[in-house]
Amino acid sequence: MGEKWLVGVDIGGTTIKMAFISLSGDIICSWEIDTDISNKGKHIPASIAKSIEEKLKEFNLTKNQLVAIGVGAPGPVNEEDGSVEVAVNLGWERFQLQTILERETSLPVVVDNDANIAAIGEMWKGAGKGAKNLICVTLGTGVGGGIIVNGEVVHGVNGAGGEIGHMTSVPKNGAPCKCGKLGCLETVASATGIVRLAKEELVSSNESSCLRHYKIHQTLSAKHVFDAAKEGDVLANRVVEQVAFHLGLSLSNLANGLNPETIVIGGGVSKADDTLLRPLKEEFVKFAFPRVAQSVEIVTATLGNNAGVIGGAWLAKEKMINKPVFQ
Ligand SMILES: [Zn+2]
Repeated sequence: MGEKWLVGVDIGGTTIKMAFISLSGDIICSWEIDTDISNKGKHIPASIAKSIEEKLKEFNLTKNQLVAIGVGAPGPVNEEDGSVEVAVNLGWERFQLQTILERETSLPVVVDNDANIAAIGEMWKGAGKGAKNLICVTLGTGVGGGIIVNGEVVHGVNGAGGEIGHMTSVPKNGAPCKCGKLGCLETVASATGIVRLAKEELVSSNESSCLRHYKIHQTLSAKHVFDAAKEGDVLANRVVEQVAFHLGLSLSNLANGLNPETIVIGGGVSKADDTLLRPLKEEFVKFAFPRVAQSVEIVTATLGNNAGVIGGAWLAKEKMINKPVFQ
């Protein structure tokens, strides 16, 4: 038998991404299954276990091929026992994910938050390129984050470390966030928040903008905003400036406290690439301590949807390194 494999699992509200990954972090095979949220998500561990067995059969292999499983869950995770405190999308509350999945698979399991494993994935095989001090921010429907200091994920005292999306970015008259606060970074830098800012701009003036067409047809998206900005649309550029300002201010303050080597921008919004990155870097430099600004690189994530499974595999590997059976 050749080299053994790690299993990376990234649990989302609609699909579960899974992969067999080599010890050096290369994806051997990746696939997806639907997330079974019936009965408050209680069948999820069994469906993961079944899917792993089926995939092994396709390779004519047994579980001996696998070392351990690393899982990302969409909610805060208790480091002590690998339970998920709450995952609203799945119906989980104090869900004993690690214990149940270990029982279902007979393999060692390690669990962390999905944004954290995405950060680890980018650190290991993506845009982080091995940086041991890294901030990863995921700009999607919401804003997720992962902070890595000296190669370790920052979990904080009760698992809420790295919640970059809920830094207060608009201290006065901020929009409501789903966490219950007002003016969180998520309300101005997520895809949803960017659309909201664009709608506000469109309502507050009669200025011509190609975004009006999308607003009327109720199809306005963050991508439209960045595409229009790139084409020189003045109103769209004002929206992008606002996003860059809030994101640059929040990330610089975070960086001033952490002095990271790399800041990785991921998620759907990061596809805007330089249209976002160029103004973001300008704002960041304004607010960052000079020594912090000199030593950091702000880059776009490179692993896309695979960041989670690769980060999960890294955690699985780390867990097993601490055990004598693993070489
Ligand atoms: Zn919030």
